Amino acid sequence: MKTIGLLGGMSWESTAGYYRAINQGIKKQLGGLHSAEIIMYSVDFAPIEALQHSGNWQQTGEILSKAACAMEAGGADFFLICTNTMHKVAEQVEAAVTIPLLHIADATGNALQSKGIKKVGLLGTAFTMEQDFYRGRLEKKFGLEVIIPEKENRQTVHDIIYQELCLGRIIPQSQAKYIDIVDNLAHKGAEAVILGCTEIGMLIKESDVTLPLFDTTLIHAAAAVKKALAES
Ligand code: GLU
Repeated sequence: MKTIGLLGGMSWESTAGYYRAINQGIKKQLGGLHSAEIIMYSVDFAPIEALQHSGNWQQTGEILSKAACAMEAGGADFFLICTNTMHKVAEQVEAAVTIPLLHIADATGNALQSKGIKKVGLLGTAFTMEQDFYRGRLEKKFGLEVIIPEKENRQTVHDIIYQELCLGRIIPQSQAKYIDIVDNLAHKGAEAVILGCTEIGMLIKESDVTLPLFDTTLIHAAAAVKKALAES
């Protein structure tokens, strides 16, 4: 079994979900007392969030690059960045190490393709929904049509992520807002919705909505299990 590097803490609420899902996946495959070989580097999210919102992405990339180097030195065979948003600096972090990055958009694109989805809604931070680093990869590499909520709804989705979910606050009124936003995406023709922020699965589940949900935390964790157990 390969050693998985988890670059987490963004937020730790969702990284806890990765840890559980990866260990459950390994246990399901190998049985008994088997569990995953993991090296985790969990950062302090407060300075990273401040740098994101002031547009200083270069510095966030430097922090994550240092963490990735430490995981490589600690014996990780490959690594995950446990957040969609921070894949904005994925290339900078990849360049700092020799071990491969298991990219969250690739894991998600593969999952959507395997279900034959062509037009998909995307929920995530404003950075993830509005910029090209994530949507562009899904569109160019996987031929998906990606649609996002209207501006006001994007702000709602973004604010709930940073002001509630990353702090572990699960509020029923916010869940209702997310359900409405998923419904709007369904009316615009989405065949499924990507929970493109690793905390959203804490708030809504597939049983709450009418569309299939692709939870990036679970998809990314499952891809890590597969890679850890693969021959090459
Ligand atoms: N975990 C979130 C994501 O998947 C947001 C937190 C962050 O800004 O990294 O995008």
